[in-house]
Amino acid sequence: MTDPVTDPVSQRSQGRLILVGTPIGNLGDLTPRAIETLASADLVCCEDTRRTGRLLQHAGIRAAGLRVVNDHTEEAAVADIVARLGRGERVAVVSDAGMPGFSDPGERLVVAAVAAGFVVEVVPGPSAAISALVASGLPAGRFVFEGFLPRKGSGRTARLATLAPERRTVVLYEAPHRVARTLADLLVACGPDRRVVLARELTKLHEESWRGTLAEAIARVADVEPRGEYVLVLDGAPVPDDITDGEIEAALAEERALGASTRDAVAAVAVSLAVPKRRVYDLATA
Ligand code: SAM
Repeated sequence: MTDPVTDPVSQRSQGRLILVGTPIGNLGDLTPRAIETLASADLVCCEDTRRTGRLLQHAGIRAAGLRVVNDHTEEAAVADIVARLGRGERVAVVSDAGMPGFSDPGERLVVAAVAAGFVVEVVPGPSAAISALVASGLPAGRFVFEGFLPRKGSGRTARLATLAPERRTVVLYEAPHRVARTLADLLVACGPDRRVVLARELTKLHEESWRGTLAEAIARVADVEPRGEYVLVLDGAPVPDDITDGEIEAALAEERALGASTRDAVAAVAVSLAVPKRRVYDLATA
């Protein structure tokens, strides 16, 4: 029998990277398994030691060690964490809130741990995206998670153009001071009548899932700067059963009359009629 302390293969099989979900607001959502994992880990990687320190204190946990792994430090931390896994350690990863590695640091550690042959475990907890989706009342069977949209420029325009004809429900994260801007851009891309849910402060005192159209949502946030954390859940594009080839051709002719190239006309019509680009392209080049 091999000695697990000296045999490198056994040690490698013992080293574990464990992704631990933490509350998105209500501390009561920290699971018993998360508490046990954080208490027994050799190291807890976190975005912010003060914030995670408060969570650990709340749960009565004295962590063996805390290390900052955030967007700026994750890359540099990878080699050291993999070395610790190699010594057979159990390394837990948390973010400030919700699931690590999901619009949060952690993904690079997972990729490196997998590549080096270590076990990656998950202790699931809440995530703002799934919580908002299931409470939205919009179809949740198939959905697209977009995280944060690019802040500006052609990247943002291109992403909005991709989202507009998306039939599945779209889940977006947004910082409170950018909610109004993003709703305005979504209205331009998707039209005023598209349904949206503003899921705010989930699991907290002022939790709310506001439902309406994009035009109504803009009116709602116009006067008051939105406060708290938001997830935007956007209804998918209507199924264009009733849009005929003739309508698409007429829309293409209008775009061309305004001087649009075939490429631009196809893109504009696909968005405005919420039909697949391929279908518009085939008609444009027939
Ligand atoms: N990893 C996290 C998760 O699993 O939900 C997401 C982290 S991301 C950096 C933070 C974003 O999540 C916020 O900008 C907001 O869009 C959303 N969020 C986090 N907590 C929330 C809450 N309690 N209510 C609504 N949205 C929340």
